[in-house]
Amino acid sequence: MSSFLKALAPILVAIWSVVSAAAEPNALAQLGAGGAVIDDKSGAVEIRVALSQAVPWRVHLLNGPPRVALEFGELRWSEAPDVRSASVTDVMTERHDAGWSRMVALLQEPLDVETAEMTVAEGGSAQLVVTLVPVTAEDFREAAEENTPLFAAKGAGKGLPVITIDPGHGGRDPGAQADGLSEADLMLDVARRLKDDLIRTGRYDVVLTRDEDVFVPLEQRLTMARDAGAHLFLSLHADALAEDAGSASGVTLYTLSPDAEADAADTLTERHDGTNVLTGVDLTDAGDDVTLALLDLARQDSVPRSDALTKALIAAFQSSGLALNSRPHRQADLSVLKSAGTPSVLVELGFLSSVEDRERLNSEEWRASASLAIRDAILLWSDEDRLLGEGFRR
Ligand SMILES: [Zn+2]
Repeated sequence: MSSFLKALAPILVAIWSVVSAAAEPNALAQLGAGGAVIDDKSGAVEIRVALSQAVPWRVHLLNGPPRVALEFGELRWSEAPDVRSASVTDVMTERHDAGWSRMVALLQEPLDVETAEMTVAEGGSAQLVVTLVPVTAEDFREAAEENTPLFAAKGAGKGLPVITIDPGHGGRDPGAQADGLSEADLMLDVARRLKDDLIRTGRYDVVLTRDEDVFVPLEQRLTMARDAGAHLFLSLHADALAEDAGSASGVTLYTLSPDAEADAADTLTERHDGTNVLTGVDLTDAGDDVTLALLDLARQDSVPRSDALTKALIAAFQSSGLALNSRPHRQADLSVLKSAGTPSVLVELGFLSSVEDRERLNSEEWRASASLAIRDAILLWSDEDRLLGEGFRR
C-alpha cells in the first residue's frame, strides 16, 4: 500500500462503511439522472431507465400476474424508482441471480416486448428503453414461458457474456519486431483465432478492439470494451528485450499491480478524472472520498477475478505444453488493465527477442494451440466465476 493510501486508510474505512451501508458490494452502475420513467402512449407503453453507465441487460416476461422484468448486470439501485402509470400498477427492485438485479413492473394487462435497446451517451451514461404493446393473455403466457430473454444487450443477442479481445498495437504502431515478424500482425492472427474458438463454444459473444492492421488508441480500446458491456478484457501482446537486456522467453501474464492501483487512486484524486481508471463511472463531480471508495469497490471485485483467470491460463498453457516464462504471473502498472470493475489480463505470448519464441510465434500450429489454451482457461474460469458462473450457467 502506498504511503498515500496508508495515511488515508482510517478515512477510507470510515467512508467505506458509509458507502457500503448504501451499496451492495461490487455493484458499480447506478440509476442515472432522470431515473426510471413509464410513459403510457396510445397503444403502447414505454419504460425508460437511465443508468450511470452501460451494463449487461436482458428483458423477460413473468407469468402469474403479468409482469415485465428488466434485468441488469452489476447495477446498484439506490432506491426503487417510484413510478406508476395506468398500465404499470407497481414497480419493485430486487437482487436476482448473482451479479444481476432487476426492476419488475406489474402490468395492468398483458403486454409483450416490442423493442428494447440500450443507448450509451458520449459521457458514458446509458439508457434502456423498452416498448411494450398489448397482447392476448394466451400470447403473453407463451412469451413468458420462453426461458431465454426476449431481448438482451446488443452484441449479446442471447444474453451471453461479452469478451473483449484486444490485439495489441496495429497500423503505424507495429509493436515489437524481429526477423520480419511484427507483434501487431501476430497478435491480430491469434485474436481472430481466439474469437472463432470462443464463438464456437456458443457461450460467449466476442468483440475485437481491432480486426485489421489499424492504429487504435488505448483509451478507445477501453471505451469499446465498456460500450460492449464486456465481462472480460483480454489484451494480447508479445514482448521483446533489447539485445543487451539478457534473455527471456515464454508466456507471461500481467494483471494490474495493487501499487499501480494505489498510484492510480492517487492521481485520480488529484485530477478528479475518474473515467480513466473507473471506466464508465463519471467521477468528475465526485469528492475524493467517494472516488477512492468506488475505486476500492471495483478493485475488490475485479482483482481476485483477474487473478483467478490468470491461474486458469497458466494451468491451460502448462497442460498444452506451451512454453511458460519462469515467472509467468506478473503485476504491472499497465493502462490497458485499468478498466476497473472488468476482470482484465494482458497475455504476453512470448518474446520476439528469443529465437525459440520467435519460432513458436511464427508457427500457425503454435498460435492455434495458444488460442485453444486461452479458450479452455476462459471456459474453466467462467464456470467458477462468481458473476459469470452463476449468472450465465445454463
Ligand atoms: Zn505489445
